[in-house]
Amino acid sequence: MTRETETRLSPADDARAVLARLGVDPARLSGGDRIARSPLDGAEIARLTDTTPAEAEAAIAGAAEAFKAWRLVPAPERGRLVALLGEELRAAKEDLGRLVTLEAGKVPAEGLGEVQEMIDICDFAVGLSRQLHGLTIATERPDHRMMETWHPIGPVGVITAFNFPVAVWSWNAALAFVCGDPVIWKPSEKTLLTALAVTALFEKAARRHGKVPAGLASLLIGGREIGEKLVDDRRVPVISATGSTAMGRKVGPRVAERFGRAILELGGNNAAILQPSADLELALRGIAFAAMGTAGQRCTTLRRLFLHGSIYDGFVTRLKAAYASVKVGDPREAGVLVGPLIDADAARAMDAALEAARAAGGTVHGGEVVEVMGQGQYRRPALVEMPAQADIVRHETFAPILYVLRHDDLAEAIAAQNDVPQGLASSIFTNDLRDAERFLSAAGSDCGIANVNIGPSGAEIGGAFGGEKETGGGREAGSDAWKAYMRRATNTINYGSTLPLAQGVTFDI
Ligand code: NAD
Repeated sequence: MTRETETRLSPADDARAVLARLGVDPARLSGGDRIARSPLDGAEIARLTDTTPAEAEAAIAGAAEAFKAWRLVPAPERGRLVALLGEELRAAKEDLGRLVTLEAGKVPAEGLGEVQEMIDICDFAVGLSRQLHGLTIATERPDHRMMETWHPIGPVGVITAFNFPVAVWSWNAALAFVCGDPVIWKPSEKTLLTALAVTALFEKAARRHGKVPAGLASLLIGGREIGEKLVDDRRVPVISATGSTAMGRKVGPRVAERFGRAILELGGNNAAILQPSADLELALRGIAFAAMGTAGQRCTTLRRLFLHGSIYDGFVTRLKAAYASVKVGDPREAGVLVGPLIDADAARAMDAALEAARAAGGTVHGGEVVEVMGQGQYRRPALVEMPAQADIVRHETFAPILYVLRHDDLAEAIAAQNDVPQGLASSIFTNDLRDAERFLSAAGSDCGIANVNIGPSGAEIGGAFGGEKETGGGREAGSDAWKAYMRRATNTINYGSTLPLAQGVTFDI
């Protein structure tokens, strides 16, 4: 079937064909009460059955059992499973990317990009499987050696959000598998089909590997209750939870209550500062992608632009033109850059935020309803000139709204940028070395991600990803994020024949 013929299919028929190609058992797609819909037109694609509490219990017990075997498999051999998963993802990239488009509403380039990100983290994790390393540390005692050993920690519970329905699982799972940990996944109830498809691909990889214990990867389908079961279970030492700050506020304390480890990846309120020395052409493209891409539904979406007064009017005129020209519609159609919001609640939140911004003195450009098909919730991205950083600007609205604020001085812009509860992603556009370095310094951006001359969104997997303050403090993906999926043992070995005690303590019996 050609791309054009496929675009003419209803999103539901399109999705069903893709699910069949991806090897999802049709029996899992009918008969239940949980409706899977496409945001493209709001129509039903499938009806899924929720995981029962007894099945969740069995999945957790199965993961605990699988852990006993998997932790003993040499790490490079565990890496071979992730290499096979990467191969399956490469082979299925077109179809899985299309399913992301049909279920999360992303344009194809972004749907495919999300699958590429899964492939990238698999490659990273395979390399990591031969590099899980500890330190050897100087000791004060003669004939002693001190070292750190990293061991598998146990089952990892992964709770994910709708907006990166497949990549976030892989950021966690690829690392967890090579670190020796089973994974229990609770995906967003809005994106269950992509989760079923990823699970089918994992199962293929596991069969090819041949030595994967049953229960190494499992899927819990349901709402917050089933997630809470995972969050409260002591057999799951690590909970990685991605979603809203409201969710993290509930999950964080519950995991802490049982002394579990929480990796929290929560809401952002990302900013860019545009200085007069910047390459304005480059900045325009960077800002447009960061603010309008994924219909404003990335955790790193640019939401606040601090625009220097000396270039304010001219740049706002250019931004308005870019906003007016961007094509909103069925993401499968050529040329469309902005697809639908995930559902009617998201659209209502966007409309309400624009109302609140108007009430706080903002001037709104765009934001209109666009009729595309069925019950799809399409909105033109909105640019909102704000006189000040009002409450609504300090709040994350998960929609394509860019608030523009004027500044005259970099210190003032950095202070305003940091004066929000969230701390995920930030950037500065400047060709002035001093501005760039000040922004990156200890007195600069307080975010987990701080960029120069690129927007705040579009991270690559080699770096650790996450943010501070109400974004939760967790780190995933590259750098040394793997350490969160392992337990550290400090070992001191005495190879002498006396027993000197540390700090000169004597204890002669
Ligand atoms: P959400 O908080 O509504 O849901 C996220 C997940 O948490 C879902 O699977 C949901 O079922 C589950 N959940 C909710 N309450 C729970 C509870 N009490 N116990 C256990 N599980 C619970 O988020 P969403 O609307 O799907 O996603 C959008 C949000 O996610 C935005 O705020 C966005 O910024 C954030 N996000 C953050 C990152 C990051 O890396 N920082 C990445 C993607 C999305």
